[in-house]
Amino acid sequence: MSTQNKTNDAGGLAGAPADNSTLPKELRRAWRLVLLGAPGVGKGTQGELLSHRHGMCHISTGDLFRAAGSRAAGEKTPAMAEAMNYMHRGELVPDATVWALVREQSNSIRSRDGFLLDGFPRTLAQAELLKGFMEDEKLPLSAVVDYEMPHSEIIYRLSGRRICAKCKAVFHVTWRPSKVEGVCDECGGRLYRRDDDNPESIAIRLEAYQRSTSPLIEFYKKQGVLTPVDAVGSAEEVYARTIAALQARA
Ligand code: AMP
Repeated sequence: MSTQNKTNDAGGLAGAPADNSTLPKELRRAWRLVLLGAPGVGKGTQGELLSHRHGMCHISTGDLFRAAGSRAAGEKTPAMAEAMNYMHRGELVPDATVWALVREQSNSIRSRDGFLLDGFPRTLAQAELLKGFMEDEKLPLSAVVDYEMPHSEIIYRLSGRRICAKCKAVFHVTWRPSKVEGVCDECGGRLYRRDDDNPESIAIRLEAYQRSTSPLIEFYKKQGVLTPVDAVGSAEEVYARTIAALQARA
């Protein structure tokens, strides 16, 4: 599975050129999706698969923060430098900072190829900001995919997760080990453990999800766009379930 990102004209993360010809007719249109689900359920992997295969812009706020964090100290705004501290502790970054980051991606959100938001919104305030923006732009959300997974499985996945620094393919030390330890099977890149995939940060992130993000399930259910998907299984199995669930909505 190649998960190489590309940057589109609008500066957002985009998939490879869409090959929608193999899709059922009702899915051959621009999708505007939000991917919900606790950390570790596989939103990033599904986001990569969906954007690669269907061409919509993949906007991951976590990836955008990590990219901003890797800039030299002098190139970071004070808000971005502070955001890094929240991230390392596993806490949510303040809404105003997140919204400023997402607004920078507004051309991707307006893209006629559609978009998928991965890791945003994470609070009701963020969801309201997005709703207002989408209403102003007259762009309805197509669906909010809610990836469901038992807590015990999430902890197991996060604590052994390894990510390729180059192509972002995801491995697991026991469940999906790379052939050579520390080296990506896909591209030979270096595998690393995310700073916040340590037991203390995992506990804080799951608590933040429960407190701040899980109320979004009700918020989107009321709007009739919530689409639950079982996230247990291989990436391809979950992808197939996602497409089936989107198809059922179309
Ligand atoms: P992720 O890669 O989506 O797990 O995000 C990693 C970290 O980035 C989170 O634990 C937060 O510290 C921060 N972050 C990403 N997206 C958001 C958001 N929408 N709201 C607040 N913090 C965020």
